[in-house]
Amino acid sequence: MKKITLFLTAMLAMSVTINSKTEETTMLPGNAEIVKCPYCGTEKELMTLLSGNTFGAEYWSDNKRIAPMLPSVSPVQKCPNCGKYYFESKNRHGESNNTSFERGELSFPEWKDAYTQFQTEGVKGDDLVNVRFWVVQSYNDYFYRKSNSHKPSKEDFQLFSKLAIDFINSFDWKPVQHPLLKAELYREANFMKECKEVLESIPYNELQDFEKSIFNDIKQRMEKGDNKVFKLSV
Ligand SMILES: [Zn+2]
Repeated sequence: MKKITLFLTAMLAMSVTINSKTEETTMLPGNAEIVKCPYCGTEKELMTLLSGNTFGAEYWSDNKRIAPMLPSVSPVQKCPNCGKYYFESKNRHGESNNTSFERGELSFPEWKDAYTQFQTEGVKGDDLVNVRFWVVQSYNDYFYRKSNSHKPSKEDFQLFSKLAIDFINSFDWKPVQHPLLKAELYREANFMKECKEVLESIPYNELQDFEKSIFNDIKQRMEKGDNKVFKLSV
């Protein structure tokens, strides 16, 4: 299972290093990966990359990275035949001779359906923790990152807020030295008091410059009661 291990500052630090080391801007597809629906057996082919890079990448405050030269497939796929959802990493069946640019990205309404299906099936542990986080990011994709006119309903925000809080409570934060993402998710879920408490627990003087910048951006928005995701200025 693909675990969420790269968090906000770790991800940024790594990416800055990669960008400074490479001037390569090509992206090469590899042989497509075959995934097979565990419900009806229908196969589909997904993109793989032989090489890519983070040139031109955007970073967002919910830990989302959008790298045009390093796209990734959705960790949950929807079967084109029966419409059921399944984990990409658990349903791989070898590689094809073709290349494919199919990523199987899900919209927020589809992620909501996937979450409901996984709940019905009793998905738990790390899988459930990850799904919560992916639904949270997809909400931000759908309503704030893509330039469309969708507006979240009250129910959508309530689900988003609940899943953000459930994620915070179920994720193992112990190895995370400076939990800026935790503060940020509290802010996005509109739990400003909790956001403030997490920020106050982070030793500001120990942060690197780019972390200080993120810290200040979160704090200013928290103080204004603004709970929207934002693009990091790095
Ligand atoms: Zn199927």
